[in-house]
Amino acid sequence: MVYKDTFWLIMSKSGKRIVILGGGFGGLVTALRLGDKLKGHEIVIVDNNLVHVYTPWLYDVSTGFLLDSNTHKVSGLKKTSGIEISKVIKNKGLQDKIRLKKAMVMGLDLEGSHVLLTDGKNISYDILAIALGAETEYYNIDGLEEHSITLKSLDDALLIREKLDLLLEDLRNGKRQRVEVIIGGAGATGTECAAELANFLARCVKSGIKECERIGIRLLDAAPTILGSFSKSAQKKARARLEELGVEIITDTIIQKACKNKITVAPRSASTDQLSPNESPFKKETELQNDILIWSGGICVNKVVRLFELPKDKRGRIKVSRTLQVDGHPNIFALGDVASLIDPETEKPVPQLGQVAVAEAKLLAKNIKHKILDQDLEEFSIPSYWPSIVPVGGKFAIANFKRITFSGYFAYLLRRVADFKYFATILALREAYNAWRSGIKVLGKND
Ligand SMILES: Cc1cc2nc3c(=O)[nH]c(=O)nc-3n(C[C@H](O)[C@H](O)[C@H](O)COP(=O)(O)OP(=O)(O)OC[C@H]3O[C@@H](n4cnc5c(N)ncnc54)[C@H](O)[C@@H]3O)c2cc1C
Repeated sequence: MVYKDTFWLIMSKSGKRIVILGGGFGGLVTALRLGDKLKGHEIVIVDNNLVHVYTPWLYDVSTGFLLDSNTHKVSGLKKTSGIEISKVIKNKGLQDKIRLKKAMVMGLDLEGSHVLLTDGKNISYDILAIALGAETEYYNIDGLEEHSITLKSLDDALLIREKLDLLLEDLRNGKRQRVEVIIGGAGATGTECAAELANFLARCVKSGIKECERIGIRLLDAAPTILGSFSKSAQKKARARLEELGVEIITDTIIQKACKNKITVAPRSASTDQLSPNESPFKKETELQNDILIWSGGICVNKVVRLFELPKDKRGRIKVSRTLQVDGHPNIFALGDVASLIDPETEKPVPQLGQVAVAEAKLLAKNIKHKILDQDLEEFSIPSYWPSIVPVGGKFAIANFKRITFSGYFAYLLRRVADFKYFATILALREAYNAWRSGIKVLGKND
């Protein structure tokens, strides 16, 4: 059955139906921009989760209000980095232009131009934008998916928080002598998460909660360094900061297997035959105990996108041109983590980042309008670098702008400005300020 609704059916008779798959960074911004530009056409966002998640604050949620079991406060944590999509649409005054459909996408019928949904109500499109994001990559490591928690969604962040809370409670009432936290994957997410937790524990110890001294945090990566995609200077500063906070950094070490409360690790070169200087502290396979294992070691293409019969790169991402059109399909666009847009400078796809998805969405909204009006499409202008600011515990961050790297409070403030900029992209200014301010007020408590 193809999805029907009287009001929208009447509208779509005169106009086009633009279906946007995913209401994350790329999908939501595309819809909002398009809603501002278009009249008389139907815009539909399809997402199985009606809450838009601001992922850069998830690491903060995972330690929010630890040692404070006030359930009201804990449920308030959700609101800091999750905003209902319908509220965003309403706040922008676009409720008559953008339709939100809660459904799980399960396939794409290219011949019939419709998207297959799990509720059986398939939806047809004139123009399709695919922004379904990425999923966690477990690299077929035995037991990893089963025995680890990722940090990809609000639920993940709250689960980490809940586990930490229980473990801290056990330490306090003597049920445990020690707690071991292992974070696998020392990219931005793993590094932020380790630093945030270590900073929180250090503050607890200072304020007299001595049992927090008995929590060990290990940050582990297969690469020879942490923050692999950052400048050498950023890597050095991050290492120094983490070590100062008491995080044990283990590089050049792979996880071979995960079981309940235990992982088996090995020095990287021993298992991959790569010839590189090996800094792994382990000379052979070793078992490490853990009470909580957080996995932030990689992302891969969304499972459902693997089913779409569209041109893909070798990592399964949908190949798009500079106009964001899918190769060979002029009415289908892809953006964000799901798309492979090649930067001619590096000959590699642009990075999978929220800021990339947002920049692409702004162009995509223009291009969809051009497409409807039969005008020439614009090309995405790829910047020579994507700035990054990684918070590393408390009011301290490391900023990396091309060749310039700096760290400290000023970098932290810049990061907060970037957060606000995003809220102001999806909400009217006043609402953006309120959402940003209340988020910082709650999440900043641990800083
Ligand atoms: C912890 C963390 C921190 C991050 N920090 C930063 C940062 O500081 N800066 C930065 O630039 N980037 C950051 N990122 C990366 C950023 O979140 C992603 O690059 C960005 O979300 C990609 O946008 P997207 O629109 O492609 O996908 P997403 O924002 O992931 O949106 C995908 C949407 O599709 C929906 N969806 C997926 N599958 C289906 C389906 N089958 N049916 C229906 N709906 C579906 C999802 O519910 C989701 O709403 C971070 C990511 C994480 C996990």
